Amino acid sequence: MQTRRGPFGHPLPPVEPTPPADVQAAVASARAAQRAWADRPVAERAAVLLRLHDLVIARRSEILDLVQHEAGKSRVDAFEEVADVASVARHYARRTARYLRPRRYRGLVPGMIGARVYRDPHGVVGVIAPWNFPLVLTLGELLPALMAGNAVVVKPDPLTAQTCRLGLELLAQAGVPRGLVQQVDGGVAVGQALIAEVDHVIFTGSTVAGRAVAAQAAERLIGSTLELGGKNSMYVRADADLRLAVPGAARNAFANAGQLCLAAERVIVHRDVADEFVDAFVGRVASITLGNTLDFGYLMGSQISAVQVDKVRNHIDDAVARGATLLTGGRLATDVGPFVVQPTVLGDVPTSAHCYREETFGPVVSVFVVSNDDEALHVAADTGGALTASVWTRDARAGLALARRMSTGSVSINEHYAAVWGSTAVPFGGVGESGSGRRHGPDAVTGVTRAQTIVTQRAAPLGLALSGLHDLPGQTWTSLYTTGLRLLRGVGAS
Ligand code: NAD
Repeated sequence: MQTRRGPFGHPLPPVEPTPPADVQAAVASARAAQRAWADRPVAERAAVLLRLHDLVIARRSEILDLVQHEAGKSRVDAFEEVADVASVARHYARRTARYLRPRRYRGLVPGMIGARVYRDPHGVVGVIAPWNFPLVLTLGELLPALMAGNAVVVKPDPLTAQTCRLGLELLAQAGVPRGLVQQVDGGVAVGQALIAEVDHVIFTGSTVAGRAVAAQAAERLIGSTLELGGKNSMYVRADADLRLAVPGAARNAFANAGQLCLAAERVIVHRDVADEFVDAFVGRVASITLGNTLDFGYLMGSQISAVQVDKVRNHIDDAVARGATLLTGGRLATDVGPFVVQPTVLGDVPTSAHCYREETFGPVVSVFVVSNDDEALHVAADTGGALTASVWTRDARAGLALARRMSTGSVSINEHYAAVWGSTAVPFGGVGESGSGRRHGPDAVTGVTRAQTIVTQRAAPLGLALSGLHDLPGQTWTSLYTTGLRLLRGVGAS
């Protein structure tokens, strides 16, 4: 096995694919550890997460170095990984007891039959992750499943396997029992071998791969949580505060060098403010500093690989060849690093260009000018799917009304991704081609548990009465039942 080199040229240990028998063994030993973990009080599990929170913060410098070496991020982008995992650990440590609490429901006969719904862990949850957030989408992603009492086997992308390994080391140090959380390494085949063994799969990645994962999970009748890609729009209304919208667009299009499922790859701007917005936006983007070193001295880092650079360049070249205008950027910044691409703004992008509908997943944003809100909604919806969207306006009521007309899993008003992603208490996810199921909030816990309903007869005479009723002639029984139905309707029972 050859040593690999990261996007900054730094040598990294090779990643050997886990053989299929070892994937099975990893799931089996995770399963063996799971029962005792699920039997522990939630407060004990929470203590592990709070220790992890402290460890992630204490060892942030080491984490940032590794994330930068493997993923090519700027240091400030890499810090999002630390901040997010710490927030998720804190949230689920403090909230899971409430999310798992059995819920009471009214039964068939109010007051006489009571029902409770309990939530039990699935068993072993498989987490399959992409490379763009190597700590958040492995360590961060598995925490709600762990808190719900599951064991977890995680398969990171091979490009970022070391970051996941460091995350699991910290989890072990925080006190997670031996064997409960495991890592398997490799590509698609190892991912498939994992899905063949687990009781639920959480997949983050492309829509194409998500379809295959969902099909394999469906074949085994296990559930899948799918967090996929999309082409996200931000709409700058005529009444937007451009002092917010201009830096907001630059931040939200080029965070993580555009390798962000939530990035704004389209900025739709109202004609009345288009000239002023585009001038200021292009100037701001052209001033974004680039780098590939382990310091905070620049804003935007590298693409992760040559494959990613080619994909980005193809989208830019194709758009320009089809008539798009290059407003800024468009070139490789090889003087900075081998995989660094200038932040790029395109105008006049025709609908035939690949980057019009397809996710670029790189530092390329297209600007569209529209004449009214309806046209903006039309452009925003004219994609293969979107995960999120945003509306920038001084009119909160109009912003909300527009948001409600957008078919995305989330919409932010006067921010794009940071507020919705950072609100850990709020369910977050896609619709249609951008996924199903939710991370964050209570949904991340209910999504990795199954419901068990227990119905209790509170009054013994009811059982006797029901048995007696069954002995009545059918006509008498059904007419009594009909009277009961009318009564329940009349007293407002639900
Ligand atoms: P990818 O789908 O190629 O791979 C993601 C992971 O899935 C990798 O670990 C890969 O080895 C594995 N995999 C691929 N096919 C598989 C299969 N059939 N069975 C099992 N495992 C399989 O995605 P990528 O190119 O690495 O990541 C980029 C994509 O991820 C983008 O589309 C981006 O939008 C999306 N993404 C979405 C979110 C979200 O929260 N919705 C977050 C980050 C990234």
